[in-house]
Amino acid sequence: MQLVFASNNKNKIKEIQLLVSDTIQILSLEEIGCTEDIPETADTIEGNAILKANYVTEKFGFNCFADDSGLEVDALNGEPGVFSARYAGEPKNDENNIDKLLVNLKEIENKKANFKTVICLNINGEQQLFTGIINGQIIEERVGTNGFGYDPIFVADGYQKTFAELTLEEKSNISHRGIAVKQLITFLQKQFR
Ligand code: IMP
Repeated sequence: MQLVFASNNKNKIKEIQLLVSDTIQILSLEEIGCTEDIPETADTIEGNAILKANYVTEKFGFNCFADDSGLEVDALNGEPGVFSARYAGEPKNDENNIDKLLVNLKEIENKKANFKTVICLNINGEQQLFTGIINGQIIEERVGTNGFGYDPIFVADGYQKTFAELTLEEKSNISHRGIAVKQLITFLQKQFR
């Protein structure tokens, strides 16, 4: 069976292909001839994952899954949330996003936050959502150089290191994205052994 991953990130696609059984062939957007930017105009992380997966299924007729992620900060009512990538405006810039978040949290004691990933899978006319959440705290200064996005200022509950101090493998084992992907793989393995 062919299954589109609504992404052109070759690393993400390779990673998923390695995890699913050989009976599933993962295709990128490029491979199905989808070269346009898929609109991400929903106001929730779930909504954007659904929009992306539906776009591919409706326009190209493929079974498909799409992911969307973000950082939700409790004291900021869940911001930056769906706006995580462009929190400090266009063009998207991780350093500016972190600076803005640290300024907004400066006088606030409650630093609780979580990363969230939602994967929307459209398969044979049915839709499934998989959600991965990791809870933690925002710290006051950047620590570590691995990863991307808000990794240098996020410490997961039960950990002393930021996400940017963990190896990719250590992070994937506990991260929001890792949790959601594991759910997707388990579902696919049950259906397509
Ligand atoms: P995406 O939907 O995976 O592209 O994530 C959207 C944005 O959320 C990214 O551009 C980052 O700003 C933030 N984000 C999502 N996942 C992570 C993560 O694992 N570490 C740090 N930032 C993340």
